[in-house]
Amino acid sequence: MPERMKQPPQDPELREQLLREIQRLARCALFGTISETYRTCGTPGCRCHRKGPRHGPHLYISYQGQKGKTTGYYVPKVIQAEVRASIEAWSQLQDRLRRLAQLNRERLTATVPRKKRTFATGSS
Ligand SMILES: [Zn+2]
Repeated sequence: MPERMKQPPQDPELREQLLREIQRLARCALFGTISETYRTCGTPGCRCHRKGPRHGPHLYISYQGQKGKTTGYYVPKVIQAEVRASIEAWSQLQDRLRRLAQLNRERLTATVPRKKRTFATGSS
């Protein structure tokens, strides 16, 4: 059995790495949910108005606007791959931020005298 460690010392490199990743991801992150839609066009007599397949898929990004109202936009084909990657970057960003917040809490906790560290173990 290894001796029980006190507070494990933080790896400052890990913290720096997270901060670098957060900066990189934040540069391109986009917020929203991807969906693909099929549409009819404005050309009278086009196949899409009869039995033919409709046009698409069109990439559509929806998100909650400032007043909680769902809004969104269509993505031009030439930037679809980039937009997909940027939306993925958003969730990676959330993950890195959560990990950084955990490190922040551990670091802050380490400054509190041992007996007063109630919030170190709390589940809230
Ligand atoms: Zn059409």
